[in-house]
Amino acid sequence: MTDKIICEKCGCEMTDRSSGDSICVECPQCGWGWATTTYDPSLDDNTAYELWLLPGNAQSKENLQIIAKISHTNFLQAKKLLDCSTPVKLYPFDDSSSNTLSRVSEIRCIAKTLSSAAICFYIVPDFPYNY
Ligand SMILES: [Zn+2]
Repeated sequence: MTDKIICEKCGCEMTDRSSGDSICVECPQCGWGWATTTYDPSLDDNTAYELWLLPGNAQSKENLQIIAKISHTNFLQAKKLLDCSTPVKLYPFDDSSSNTLSRVSEIRCIAKTLSSAAICFYIVPDFPYNY
C-alpha cells in the first residue's frame, strides 16, 4: 500500500500497521482507526453448488473441447451434452467423488472458462462470487 491514508476524524496521516492477512490502520493523533482481516469468504463456503449447462449452446469445436475437458469425457459425450434439450449437470459430474470444500474454487474456474467462451450455464444455489 503506497497511498497515504488520511484520518476521517482529524485529517492527520494515518499509520498503516498492516501485516500479512490483517489490515490495521491507526491515526497517531486521535487514535481513530480500524483493523480487519482480509480473507476470502468463499474459502469457508461448503455449499454444495452445482453447475448446469443450458441447452442451445453452439456446437463449435472449441465448445466441445471445453465441455469435454470440464466433464472429463470425450468429444462424443461432450457433443451429447451440448445436444441435450434440457439442462445438464456439468459439475459435480460424479456426485460420489465430489468434495464440497473445493466446489467453490472449481466452480469459479469452470464458470470463468464457460463465460469466456460464451457458453450458457447456471449455478444453483445462487453463486455469490465473481468469476
Ligand atoms: Zn485522527
